[in-house]
Amino acid sequence: MADRTTDPVVVIGLGRFGRALALQLTEQGTEVLGIDSNEKTVAALANQLGNIAVADSTDIEALRQLGVPDFRHVVCAIGSDIQASILTVGLLSDLGIPDIWAKAISQQHRDILARVGAHHVVLPEHDMGERLAHVLTGRLLDYVELDDDFAMIKMKPPRDLVGITLSESGIQAQMNVTIVAVKREAAGPGARFEAAHGDTVLMYGDTIVAVGPVPNLERFAEME
Ligand code: ATP
Repeated sequence: MADRTTDPVVVIGLGRFGRALALQLTEQGTEVLGIDSNEKTVAALANQLGNIAVADSTDIEALRQLGVPDFRHVVCAIGSDIQASILTVGLLSDLGIPDIWAKAISQQHRDILARVGAHHVVLPEHDMGERLAHVLTGRLLDYVELDDDFAMIKMKPPRDLVGITLSESGIQAQMNVTIVAVKREAAGPGARFEAAHGDTVLMYGDTIVAVGPVPNLERFAEME
C-alpha cells in the first residue's frame, strides 16, 4: 500500500481551506504543490509553500505543464466558483488521477463533483455545522461523522452502564453501539484514553468514545 503520509499532494485553490490544508500537510512533512489562479494569493504564500504556481486549473495544458498527471493525490479546494470546481475535477478525472478529493459548498455541488469523478468530497462548513449542532444540543462532548450513516461520539457514560462490565450491559447487541475507548476521571488530570474491552467497568465521571450508525448513537446519547 502506498504511504499516504509521504506521497506528494497537489492542492488547487489556496483560499482559506486550501491554504490551511497545504500548510498543515507541509508541516507534517508532506511535499505539496499549490496552485492558484490569483497571483497575489500565490505571492503571499510563496515563502511558506516551496512548490507553488499561478495557473488556471480549468486549463488542461496548464495542469500537464505543472506535472499534475504524475501525482496520486490531488485536492480541488475551489469552493464558491462552482463552475471552476466542476471543470477542474472533470479534468483531473480525465487525466486519470487515482485519488481525487474535492471541496463542495452544497449537497448538490457534492453530488455533481462525485459524478464528474471526485473519489472523496468534503463539505467542511456543512459538516462542522452538523457537528456543532450535535454537541450543542445534546450530552455529546464531540461528534465526528465517519461516513454518511456512521459516526463516533465522545460523552459521559449513561447511568445504566455504570458499575457493570460492558459485556454485562449488552449494549453492543441491544443498540449496535460499540464503546471503543474510555478515559478515567479517577486517574486524574493526566488521564488518557485507553481501549475499552468486554470486561471494562465504567465509572461516574469517565469519558467514553463510542462508534455506530448515527440513529443508534442518537438513541444511545439519550439514555439516562
Ligand atoms: P475558502 O472558503 O476556502 O476561502 P472559497 O470556498 O471561497 O474558499 P473560492 O474563493 O471559490 O473558494 O476559491 C478558493 C481559491 O481558489 C481562491 O484563492 C481562488 O483564487 C482559487 N481559484 C478559483 N478558481 C480557480 C481556477 N480556475 N484555477 C485555480 N485556482 C482557482
